[in-house]
Amino acid sequence: MSMVTHEERLRSAGLRVTAQRVAVLDALARQPHAPAEALHAGLRERVPGIALPTVHGIVNDLTAAGIVRRVSLPDVGRALYEIEADDNHHHVQCVSCGRVEDVPCAVGAAPCLHPSHDHGMRVIEASVTYRAICQQCERNGNV
Ligand SMILES: [Zn+2]
Ligand SMILES: [Zn+2]
Repeated sequence: MSMVTHEERLRSAGLRVTAQRVAVLDALARQPHAPAEALHAGLRERVPGIALPTVHGIVNDLTAAGIVRRVSLPDVGRALYEIEADDNHHHVQCVSCGRVEDVPCAVGAAPCLHPSHDHGMRVIEASVTYRAICQQCERNGNV
């Protein structure tokens, strides 16, 4: 992650710097791939009285501004959020405990990410999720 401060991130995206937005970015930096509910739980101490819909509103604004990336993964009913790293990384997801980690973009050509037929739809994103079993789940026999 670069050394850009959250304040600089907000300003360069043309957003007003507010304590709540900075607090949400801070929570995301500490807890990547978090749903809004988890961010909200982690924020309540630092920002007393912050409501869940407020957190939803902030992550939506930050996503629209390109500062935050929304990650949708199989079997995860809610969107997860992370600070946008602009590196087009992928995710590896443990199918047992749900742990999610970043993996760098796979090296080499990715022909499957360019559909030969798009059914007339405008492709916005192609995402790769490696589904896996983490070592802890393997050890605990949760497989
Ligand atoms: Zn696991
Ligand atoms: Zn990620």
